[in-house]
Amino acid sequence: MSTAEQHEQTCRRSAVLRAAPTVEHPPVVRSTPDPEIAALLSSLSQTRYSRFLSAITAPPTRHSRSPEFWSIMDFAATELEDAGYTVTRTPVRVGAGSSANLVAHLPGHGTGTRHLVLATAHLDSVNEAGRSLPAPGADDNASGSAGVLELGAVLAGRSWDNDVVLILFGGEEQGLLGSIEYVAALTSEERNHISAVINMDMIGRRNSATPGVMIEGGEKSQTLMNDLVAAAGTYTHLAVATSLNPFASDHVPFIDAGLPAVLTIEADDRANTDVHTDRDTIDTVDPSLAMEILRMNLAVLAGRLGVMAKQNANSSAPAGG
Ligand SMILES: [Zn+2]
Repeated sequence: MSTAEQHEQTCRRSAVLRAAPTVEHPPVVRSTPDPEIAALLSSLSQTRYSRFLSAITAPPTRHSRSPEFWSIMDFAATELEDAGYTVTRTPVRVGAGSSANLVAHLPGHGTGTRHLVLATAHLDSVNEAGRSLPAPGADDNASGSAGVLELGAVLAGRSWDNDVVLILFGGEEQGLLGSIEYVAALTSEERNHISAVINMDMIGRRNSATPGVMIEGGEKSQTLMNDLVAAAGTYTHLAVATSLNPFASDHVPFIDAGLPAVLTIEADDRANTDVHTDRDTIDTVDPSLAMEILRMNLAVLAGRLGVMAKQNANSSAPAGG
């Protein structure tokens, strides 16, 4: 692919180079909260999320081929292993070097066909002015990576019917390389069993007075998008926009393969002109916005995962969950 095409595919920075996408503002759907889902959502922790965010943004860069990328991937792997996931690292070719995808798996306990429910984010960062320059990548995309770890911590506390699959991609900033390789390597059986892919890329910058989220998907994602709109109305205060023009993040290879994938991203992400610069720092991230987006995503993931029997008595979730 040409450099121009590659740039077009890469992270949301390309958004500012494009015409504004057609965005819809669906009516708010407010249902009666499900007590079990509400109890699960209450076990999300902004303190823990902020700890993940700090750890991920601690090194000066997470460039796909940097040693720091690998050490932060090790940190994430340890967190997920300690929570009970089986973790694998798959190499991803990036130019003359290599990066990796981290895949964490928690098998469900359903007796029938088990489906795969995915939550994903890219772990790598970039500074477009030069590889040796600081690339804190706090919003893009420590915010989404910390979100994957936070969802992982909460989902591990329950026994589900279906399988939880959490992925941190490498090589996103070089053209969605990690997610393209991941989707290409899926078996037809795995493709048939994927029931939802929720990608998070830039979920922490408040670009508008009202906290908001954009949900972006393809034709096959419509049911998933409707579920997210309903969850946002029922469990959050988010203003919701939707788009059926998916581009420039790791949901795209899944959508291109006909799979039900969405991107969840802060509202008006084009307004954040600090991405891919040394100005994308942790002090510009609003963890409370990220937590609202995580509430929406977790409600939908839990619905897709099925029965949520508590795994052990020492769970910190409130009674009735
Ligand atoms: Zn990104």
